[in-house]
Amino acid sequence: MKTLVLVEHDNASMKDATLAAVTAASQMGEVHMLVAGSGCTAVGEKAAKVAGVGKVHVADDPAYAHMLPEAVAALAADLMGHHDAFVAPATTNGKNIAPRVAALLDVMQISDILSVEGDKTFTRPIYAGNAIATVQSSDDKLVVTVRGTAFDKAETEGGSGEVEAVSGPTGNGLSEFVSQDLAKSDRPELTSAKVIVSGGRAFGSEEKFHELLDPLADKLNAGVGASRAAVDAGYAPNDYQVGQTGKIVAPEVYIAIGISGAIQHLAGMKDSKTIVAINKDEDAPIFQVADLGLVGDLFKLVPELTEKL
Ligand code: FAD
Repeated sequence: MKTLVLVEHDNASMKDATLAAVTAASQMGEVHMLVAGSGCTAVGEKAAKVAGVGKVHVADDPAYAHMLPEAVAALAADLMGHHDAFVAPATTNGKNIAPRVAALLDVMQISDILSVEGDKTFTRPIYAGNAIATVQSSDDKLVVTVRGTAFDKAETEGGSGEVEAVSGPTGNGLSEFVSQDLAKSDRPELTSAKVIVSGGRAFGSEEKFHELLDPLADKLNAGVGASRAAVDAGYAPNDYQVGQTGKIVAPEVYIAIGISGAIQHLAGMKDSKTIVAINKDEDAPIFQVADLGLVGDLFKLVPELTEKL
């Protein structure tokens, strides 16, 4: 089986999420990659060095500069004439592009796979991760998105893929890039952070959220996450949200503070290696998944913990 892996990048560097998708694709068959961008030669060269990659298709065109899903999906669907499976990381971008590729190919998408079980057979979470389904596709072509936390990252060195320039359709003209407003942060990105401190509704205000969590995160060089309740209340921006409708993370250490542990939150963090919970309610569901728990008032415990660190 020949796979085509969508490379997540910003025209300068490749995002880590791509590497888990490469591992999944390597379990399915031969790995080819697609770099669609503008001025993205360096990304193509880096992609070719990823271990196990056979070929890198580089489509360098202003039409792909911002990875507009209509444009990239049209290109990918075109390249699927020579590939059997389109494999994308289950990131915002991947989730934006893959369904369009599936629609253009008239096949169904298999979302968020956790493992490759055999020929066209995969496992994937259902019911917010409370059950794992084994699914098999009967389509000729596969379109798959890959959960980044479920696969090891492929090595970024050691490969010697062939780089090939490609061109193709540039979309249907129904969308155009206008501008982007990117959140800037010196902290590690949530999906690649080794430690995450995450806050919930209990903080009560945006000021308290940052006043208490930022110093703790600084001490631990941690990423900062939040529950949906905290995001909805405006304590933290949207891209902090961890959970079923937020980011899926699996850091070495996840510290959940003032978070009850609703199943939708657990769906995004329960694969973390060590889970620490601080909550004043000893019956809070978060303690059922926590390896270490502190029962008490976060307004007292968090400054104490930060000081001791
Ligand atoms: P709460 O449930 O209100 O919990 C607050 C906790 O803080 C309590 O356990 C309380 O004991 C504790 N507390 C209060 N005061 C203190 C104090 N002073 N010191 C210490 N502890 C204190 N949620 C997500 O997080 N992510 C998602 O992606 C997500 N997706 C969803 C998708 C759907 C379709 C639906 C229906 C819901 C989703 N939710 C999601 C919402 C989820 O169901 C919960 O409502 C949410 O996670 C609760 O957030 P919380 O734990 O911060 O708040």
